[in-house]
Amino acid sequence: MLRRAIYPGSFDPIHLGHLDIIERVSKQFDELVVLVSDSTSKTYLFSATDRMNLVKKELSHLKNVKVDSFSGLTVDYAKKKDAQVIIRGLRAVVDFEYEMTMSSMNQKLNDQIETMLVFARPEFYYYSSRGVKEIASHGGDLSGLVSPSVMQALHQTFRNKG
Ligand code: ADP
Repeated sequence: MLRRAIYPGSFDPIHLGHLDIIERVSKQFDELVVLVSDSTSKTYLFSATDRMNLVKKELSHLKNVKVDSFSGLTVDYAKKKDAQVIIRGLRAVVDFEYEMTMSSMNQKLNDQIETMLVFARPEFYYYSSRGVKEIASHGGDLSGLVSPSVMQALHQTFRNKG
C-alpha cells in the first residue's frame, strides 16, 4: 500500500518553518500532498492559485511532494486520495489546544485517518505567516524567514496596496 500523507494549511504564504516540516515529513511517506486550503470563512492575502504557485516553487527538489488546493473538509480530501495521515506542525503550547480539537473532530468524522503532529525545530518556533505578513506590510527584512520568491511576492503585494 502506498503510504500517503496530507499536510493541509493556509500557507498564506509558505515560510521556511512550513518548508522544514515538508522536507522532514516527505522522507517518512511515499507521497506527501501539501493541501492549500481555500476556506470561505477565512480571508487570505494571496489567492489560492498564488499560494499554490508559491508552494510549488519551493518544492521542485522534492519528487514525492505534490501540491493541491481544496475548499472542503480535509478528511474528505484524504479519503478521496487514499491518504491515511494528516500532518500538522506544532510550534509552542499555544498551538496545542487548537490542533487537539481539530484532530478530535477529524477523528470523529473519519476514524480511519490519523492526525500526526510534528514539532517545529526550535529555530522555527516563532515563524508564522501572520508575522511574515506583518513584517512585509512595514517593508521589513524577510530574509531567513521566507524564500526569495515569497519575499518578492510579499513586497510586490504590499507595494500594490500602497
Ligand atoms: P492554518 O491556517 O491551517 O493553521 P498555516 O499555513 O498557518 O495554516 O499552518 C499550516 C500548518 O503548519 C499548521 O499545522 C501549523 O501549525 C504549521 N506551522 C505553521 N508555522 C509553523 C512553524 N514555524 N513550524 C512548524 N509548523 C508550522
